[in-house]
Amino acid sequence: MPRLTIDELPASRIREVANAGIGRDDVLAFWFGEGDEVTPDAVRGAAVRSLEQGETFYAHNLGLAELREAIAGYMSELHGRIGAQRIAVTSGGVSALMIAMQLLVDPGDEVAAVVPVWPNLTAQPAILGARVRRIALQAQGGAWRLDLDRLLAAVTPHTRLLLVNAPNNPTGWMLTREEQHAILEHSRRTGTWVVADEVYEQVAFEVPCAPSFLDIAAPDDRLIVVHSFSKSFLMTGWRLGWLVATPSLLDAVGKLIEFNTSCAPVFVQRGALAALHGAALSVPALVERLRVCRDRLISDLARLRRVEVSPARGGLYAFLRIDGENDSMALAQRLVRQVGLGLAPGVAFGPEGEGWLRWCFASRDPERLSRGVERLAGAIGG
Ligand code: PMP
Repeated sequence: MPRLTIDELPASRIREVANAGIGRDDVLAFWFGEGDEVTPDAVRGAAVRSLEQGETFYAHNLGLAELREAIAGYMSELHGRIGAQRIAVTSGGVSALMIAMQLLVDPGDEVAAVVPVWPNLTAQPAILGARVRRIALQAQGGAWRLDLDRLLAAVTPHTRLLLVNAPNNPTGWMLTREEQHAILEHSRRTGTWVVADEVYEQVAFEVPCAPSFLDIAAPDDRLIVVHSFSKSFLMTGWRLGWLVATPSLLDAVGKLIEFNTSCAPVFVQRGALAALHGAALSVPALVERLRVCRDRLISDLARLRRVEVSPARGGLYAFLRIDGENDSMALAQRLVRQVGLGLAPGVAFGPEGEGWLRWCFASRDPERLSRGVERLAGAIGG
């Protein structure tokens, strides 16, 4: 029998809806957090060459030295000088997050999390036996905002760590620089660690890069920033990410990587090197394509009288509500069944998301989004 905490973990509610669509090729699926664009040729080519050259062995726990240097260079361009000794390469952002939790959280600790949020963020500390205190964003006219006073009141000297994901999956909410300052200064006073999930920092629509805690923190602050190659580089299936931490933590991070995955595959890291090499052109071009998708989806949805939605400031998602529909699971299942439209139920991101639906707008073909909105209109009546 699994432990109680594991027994109590809900299975993925997104998968629960998606499973209903298995074997149906008529479903327009927007439920998962990835687009339909294949990783660019240059990146795939670098991985193929690595395999052809026989790079099939274990590597350093913290990643290839040249990749850590390249990540440090990329991060330094965005956030000022960040040395490679602060970088660990991980098997996806999800593993970077888990390692941060394993490093910082003991059973019984209190972990605060800004929600709704991608469910892995709150499940991971729960698996480790922490008590998770949820701090809810507030929705106003479809847009989400932080009640900063409430957050600061919830983070006390008993709070081991604060988890915050901005730009946020699923709401598209972003932290402001002022909020980041207030959170950092408050956490310094309470001795709380901040784990900032900034995997969507480059997918920002109003500024070239979302504000990062790295812009304002000192290298020895209690801060871990989590990143991923999945989103900005179209590499979801490669399972590669990284974290930025204070240099004194890196030995412990290396140990935990040893016991989790030992290392990221070398050929995958070679692909990532090529991705970073082309980042200056590829990332802004991707964000422009995503902006077209976001704007198309929002303007189509705006024609539906019962839909409440606001354009995401960052990330890959529209988070919407339909007047009179309060059970997001039932609604998501009905949309698959009746009109072949695949959306993620808001409740998958916590009770704060109940009544909402998440729509991933990353699509090579914006027409597909319009066809999806037509199906939604067919199901909910205009
Ligand atoms: N953080 C957030 C907020 C995410 O949405 C995701 C992917 N859905 C991740 C982390 C992890 O990404 P990956 O493990 O693919 O790097």
